Amino acid sequence: MFENLSDRLGGVFDRLTKQGALSEEDVKTALREVRVALLEADVSLPVARNFIKSVEKKATGAAVTKSVTPGQQVVKIVHDELIQVLAGDSDESGELRIGTPPAPILMVGLQGGGKTTTTAKLAKRLSERDRKRVLMASLDVQRPAAMEQLEVLGKQIGVDTLPIVKGEDPVAIAKRAKTQASLGGYDVYMLDTAGRLSIDEELMSQVEAVRDVVNPRETLLVVDGLTGQDAVNTAENFDERIGISGVVLTRMDGDGRGGAALSMRAVTGKPIKFVGLGEKMDALETFEPERVAGRILGMGDIVALVEKAQQTLEAEQAERMMKRFQKGQFNMNDLKMQLEQMQKMGGMGAMLQMMPGAAKMAKQLDESGMDDSILRQQIALINSMTKKERANPALLQASRKKRIAAGSGLEVSDLNKLLKMQRQMGDMMKKMGKMGKGGMLKQAMS
Ligand code: GDP
Repeated sequence: MFENLSDRLGGVFDRLTKQGALSEEDVKTALREVRVALLEADVSLPVARNFIKSVEKKATGAAVTKSVTPGQQVVKIVHDELIQVLAGDSDESGELRIGTPPAPILMVGLQGGGKTTTTAKLAKRLSERDRKRVLMASLDVQRPAAMEQLEVLGKQIGVDTLPIVKGEDPVAIAKRAKTQASLGGYDVYMLDTAGRLSIDEELMSQVEAVRDVVNPRETLLVVDGLTGQDAVNTAENFDERIGISGVVLTRMDGDGRGGAALSMRAVTGKPIKFVGLGEKMDALETFEPERVAGRILGMGDIVALVEKAQQTLEAEQAERMMKRFQKGQFNMNDLKMQLEQMQKMGGMGAMLQMMPGAAKMAKQLDESGMDDSILRQQIALINSMTKKERANPALLQASRKKRIAAGSGLEVSDLNKLLKMQRQMGDMMKKMGKMGKGGMLKQAMS
């Protein structure tokens, strides 16, 4: 899967990473090509647009790491964004909520999407890999021989199927499956519902009725990945009407584009839990966003390189800072960095609230009217100091204080407040530096 997209992106990034210095224009051109590649892979337009916007934003704000080139950094950003678009905020690939037995799993989808095949594949996986006792039941009373198809597959994989009773309606079959699962001590019972060629009222109300009878732990939509955007639309429709917990994309063995996979999560908010990669009973894989992103980009080495460089840089910076704080060295440069951080994070109160033991200080600051304009004033005051004064604010004499305050259009009292804050924060940092992990935790909990 994803071969075409992968080839296209490979070309773009090969060129980009070969260049030493990148101009803004280089990055823009590359991202335009990425956008075209995504659209050609049948990724929906809004998803492609948001993708590029997000990458652009992150590329502009990225910390520069000396040991990697800007091109390599862009690759890493695109890689992370791919994971984000594939996984959303949580990665639920391959996870099924089973809980207390017997767990009903409802399989829904259009006809020919691979529902029956996937039901059997999943049953096999649950019984062999997870050692669950599984019962399968076909509720497909429309399609001739659908029930027999599941029975044959059951025999093939060694999983029980509910005995077929001619003339029963889907709700009655579901009820019988539920009873049989309880009596028979099964961990899971899977209900393979009937499909239609397209979404219609009859299909939906039938699935709804079954859903209400069994109250499924998982409702998995099985869709043909080859249908691209249609698969995403089908998922939206089913989710609106029935409420699905996840998606299985089938025929990904034949899909070189992969657009459905890339748009699914962003459009429906529902995770892709599995992908079907063939007709055989073990051609089912969990959908792992990280691995898929890696496969699409095919630039694992570069991603690892940038990750390593970033970690090293951050660790070095943090360690250097921590060492200085422990020694009680917290100067105006440090304060300025903190203030700028606060600006980014939505003000000082918001940040202090998150620090253990600093909630009281946050309140005081709040009362003193510490808003964004004050943060800006304080940064201006620090900017008016000389290098020496920033490193050692104790050097500031009354005359210099007056000059600095006046230079920033403020009062000396404002500068004194800033100095007090620097001392207080320095003390706090020193204390926090001395507390080990245990100490921080203890204080947070007390
Ligand atoms: P249903 O109508 O949704 O129950 O669809 P079926 O399970 O009967 O599948 C329809 C056809 O698609 C069958 O021939 C399956 O073997 C085939 N099929 C299902 N999943 C996959 C897959 O992941 N890859 C491929 N290549 N074929 C599949």
